Amino acid sequence: MSTIEAKPVPVGLVRGEASPHFLRTISHEFARRHLILSAGWNGESESLRIADRTKPWIPHNVGVALARPVTTQIGSAEDIAAAIDVAYANRDTGDDPVSGEAEVVVDAEIGDDLDRALREAESDLLSTHGKAPAVRLVDLILFEALLKGASDVHLQPVRGRTLVRYRLDGVLHTARELPGTVAASVASRVKIMARLDVAEQRAPQDGRATVTIGGGRGAEQNGGRRIDLRVSVLPSTYGERIVLRLLDPARSPHLKSFAALGMSPDIERRYLAQANRSSGIVLSTGPTGSGKTTTLYATLAWLSASYAGGGSHGCELNMMTIEDPVEYDLAGFSEGTHRLSISQTQVDPKKNVTFVAGLRHILRQDPDVIMVGEIRDQETARIAVQASLTGHLVLSTLHTSDAASAIARLIDLSVEPFLVASSLSAVLAQRLVRTIHRECAGKGCETCLGSGYKGRTGVFELLILDSALRELVGSRASAVQIKEKAQQSGMVSLRAAGEDLIGRGFTTTEEVNRVVEAVEEQA
Ligand SMILES: [Zn+2]
Repeated sequence: MSTIEAKPVPVGLVRGEASPHFLRTISHEFARRHLILSAGWNGESESLRIADRTKPWIPHNVGVALARPVTTQIGSAEDIAAAIDVAYANRDTGDDPVSGEAEVVVDAEIGDDLDRALREAESDLLSTHGKAPAVRLVDLILFEALLKGASDVHLQPVRGRTLVRYRLDGVLHTARELPGTVAASVASRVKIMARLDVAEQRAPQDGRATVTIGGGRGAEQNGGRRIDLRVSVLPSTYGERIVLRLLDPARSPHLKSFAALGMSPDIERRYLAQANRSSGIVLSTGPTGSGKTTTLYATLAWLSASYAGGGSHGCELNMMTIEDPVEYDLAGFSEGTHRLSISQTQVDPKKNVTFVAGLRHILRQDPDVIMVGEIRDQETARIAVQASLTGHLVLSTLHTSDAASAIARLIDLSVEPFLVASSLSAVLAQRLVRTIHRECAGKGCETCLGSGYKGRTGVFELLILDSALRELVGSRASAVQIKEKAQQSGMVSLRAAGEDLIGRGFTTTEEVNRVVEAVEEQA
């Protein structure tokens, strides 16, 4: 049924474009292995280019697969290999075989694009070309997540399918579903990206990857974005659950300037006055994800800028951190034109770098400002207090629901009440609430995935230890007594601060209840 004629052809004719039928029927891998590619369909026969004239059965078999008569042309192996990659790459980018450059997907069409890629992947995976559609799907999912400003992408297998969920402004949204057939290839693709063991499906795995998203070839020049991913794979009932955390430096929530935290001018002024002292402890408290670290980073940046900026000080600070983990490289941060100079050390128990050991090392490095990622144990608490009493400003976080409870927590960690009273300068409790999406007035639209929210702002409760409070703390007063006293001295509680935001139309009662009340009940 197929005819094979190996005859020399004028070069011009060899430049024909591969027929879509060939690209659909013959796998990329087969074409590369045998260096064979279509040079076009003329309505009667498929013209094939092949590098090796000694294997006539290959074009013959391709003809059988295509169910078409074929003619063959001989070409150089390099030319054909390159042409194969271009042809298949173009096929993978859709129905536009001419523009080899553009894999750039524009914002408005990303959803359609993903839907199409998903359909292609579904039908493709059942045939011979398995990998490429999964690659493209993962790229598109990550790109969509990036455009929406997601911090994490969850691939969560449920019965028969996998949910693709994005965490936007701290809340998960299910954006789409992958059929079961596609999900496995997507999971494999993610594991390959993160250099994880693809064959291992029963044990949890963690990895990292750096990907460029949103461009084509030479993606970075084409407006693609390079982002780091932290990948976690955990086996579950219906398959492997995968979470990809997007560490996009351009959007990092950790790299906000102080003004962007959302503090009221009054709280900001009083907080910075405490942070600007050369000793004492300033604590930031709240549950995970409440923005504690962001606030401390912004505080460090503000301190660094206000010192180096000349002004009254005209000097620099030695700022050092011990963190678990170091989430962001602060050296790259700039506050205005000022670049932050800071040394960050990561907790690493395998190398004997614990919070305690790290803190001891830092104290031998002549620091001015020390940030301790978290005070978790007695020894860290003891050293932090000591450091703050000997001329160092110590910034740290504690897991407590409100500002007053931080004092009780320090005493729980065996710090003597009189030492808490003399070392602690201020405690800032905080939460992040989602803000109402302005464009749709909170009604829910496509941009905000129907949630009615876009972006977040901080809600703060600032407790400053004045002399009356220090006396109370020294006499082992309870958190309730401390809170009452602080409110008499003008402390605005988290709840009241949240109600103020509701009153000014920034957020909703449900949102404030979600982040504030839940924790108050625990306390
Ligand atoms: Zn909206």
